[in-house]
Amino acid sequence: MRVEQLESPLSVQGKEVRHLHVLRLKPGDTLAVFDGQGLEAEARIVELAEFSATLELGEAREVAREHPQAVTLAVALLKGDKLSDVVRQATELGAARIQLLQTRYADVPDIGDNKLSRLRRVAEEAAKQSRRAVVPEVLAPVPLARLPEVSCGFVAHPGSGERLLDHLDWSAEVWLASGPEGGFSEAEIELLRSRGYRAITLGPRILRAETAPVALLGAIAATGV
Ligand code: SAH
Repeated sequence: MRVEQLESPLSVQGKEVRHLHVLRLKPGDTLAVFDGQGLEAEARIVELAEFSATLELGEAREVAREHPQAVTLAVALLKGDKLSDVVRQATELGAARIQLLQTRYADVPDIGDNKLSRLRRVAEEAAKQSRRAVVPEVLAPVPLARLPEVSCGFVAHPGSGERLLDHLDWSAEVWLASGPEGGFSEAEIELLRSRGYRAITLGPRILRAETAPVALLGAIAATGV
């Protein structure tokens, strides 16, 4: 359960209480609560009513569920609800930040505030599910040219000869860029290269635009960090 502040005793109301009922928890049961900023504590239910509950918290501790360096996924805007899937899976796979990207061949030119808020809620839910104490930021779309210069960046681009894991040394924050269904243009790849992004392969098959981010982050997760 995510709360604003880890204070004991902690009183909770509203949908968090419903969550306790859905999980069929009873007074005396324990669960983990976290503050979204990197702290977690064990909580014991002291009182549980229909719409309110009181929890007693153990000592707050830092949770080590984050990568050695922040990993940012820069992902091109995609149609329909595909970005929700990307945000959920990227959160499970440990992305610290998801930067939405406007690109030349992006499926849609922009997304509205409502959709952005929805994506942020998806990140929050997914962070809870995967017991991450940190909720990844979902940043409003920027044109690709606004991506910063980085020292450890990778752009997934079909046909590239280099491989992500040959160059991942955690000496700096990691930036991953993944394109839209129409791919990145050659000019975009050149621009990204000049900003420090290495073009890398995800194998000889062409992946869907919503699959490629999962493959990038999955490769990192499979190293066990
Ligand atoms: N129409 C494009 C493919 C786009 S696939 C083309 O034919 O080139 C959508 C995005 O997924 C790409 O921009 C890239 O970032 C990523 N991607 C898909 N398959 C990939 C692969 N085999 N290697 C590297 N990146 C890939």
